[in-house]
Amino acid sequence: MTTTAVTHIASLVTNDPSLGNGTPLGLIQDAAVVIEGDRIVWTGESSKAPATDNVLDAAGRAVIPGFVDSHSHLVFAGDRTEEFNARMSGQPYRAGGIRTTVGATRAATDEELSANVARYLAEALRQGTTTFETKSGYGLTVEDEARALRIAGRHTDEVTYLGAHIVSPDYADDPAGYVDLVTGPMLEACAPHARWIDVFCEQGAFDGDQARAILTAGRAKGLHPRIHANQLSYGPGVQLAVELDAASADHCTHLTDADVDALGQGSTVATLLPGAEFSTRATWPDARRLLDAGATVALSTDCNPGSSFTSSLPFCIALAVRDMGMTPDEAIWSATAGGAAALRRSDIGRITPGARADLVLLDAPSHVHLAYRPGVPLVSAVWRSGERVV
Ligand SMILES: [Zn+2]
Repeated sequence: MTTTAVTHIASLVTNDPSLGNGTPLGLIQDAAVVIEGDRIVWTGESSKAPATDNVLDAAGRAVIPGFVDSHSHLVFAGDRTEEFNARMSGQPYRAGGIRTTVGATRAATDEELSANVARYLAEALRQGTTTFETKSGYGLTVEDEARALRIAGRHTDEVTYLGAHIVSPDYADDPAGYVDLVTGPMLEACAPHARWIDVFCEQGAFDGDQARAILTAGRAKGLHPRIHANQLSYGPGVQLAVELDAASADHCTHLTDADVDALGQGSTVATLLPGAEFSTRATWPDARRLLDAGATVALSTDCNPGSSFTSSLPFCIALAVRDMGMTPDEAIWSATAGGAAALRRSDIGRITPGARADLVLLDAPSHVHLAYRPGVPLVSAVWRSGERVV
């Protein structure tokens, strides 16, 4: 098999604390990485790199692991420009929010939906994202939810069944009936096409008891739980996530001390999605408080057409450093190794022998530039599974 070395990396983020400077990022200066097939086979100082078939000289630039975006909603059609414009112009917006996207998504063909996923996937890849999770949740019928998951599965292995995004407009007068559908025939149709089950646990969406019923039904069908929790208000989502050993509690914007303690002690990752707070002018989640309590924190985009229409993890990193109390090192870790933890994956989010060869070459001497130079397209090359894709 062909081997390729990337040499003279000014600063290499490995996310292996046993390497380099001993911090969680495992930084190695003047480093090299050797790729063979789809795997990393060697990491260390550039002067000690073994001979390889090909060599690419990084010429004093930084390399980080490919970003792991563990939370997105990419199977949708339509656009909500007017809603965003009204919100940012201080005008009340009276159209249907998620319902607008549900209508457009139901009306779209499979090909249109798949092309849309591919488009945003390519956009994210250009910004360094090599793994992404995506969800259903804009179909809200048995057929439309199963279709969304089949389409998502053409583009990623990390597929999440979110029939419980909101109560379907078709069940506006019968939310209990909708929960029966989500935990019954819809789950039956969707489980073969998903790895995860998710629920929007929030006032106006699903309460704690409904969320528990939905997640435990999914678990009985072999799906693993993750939760939209404590985004708009205090609530039971985080505690439920920890109790059910969910891989991740996502948003975590409104947390009590007990919620923070639970995340600090459990194995559930706290996934923060600052694109949502940015796009809705809401209060930022307090990453510092979670980190100080010992929680594992991930950063993701929540890319969706309503509340966070960004596919850019560099943008989220900059927000997290500026407004959420994270250091640049912590934010980079959370967008790579943190995302991998939120997907319970050990083969991605790090640059060590045996890991999948997902690398990002930055047009900068250090990963810190991702926060230091916000909005600047610093990603100059991307490898995914050993193949150079950007
Ligand atoms: Zn979401």
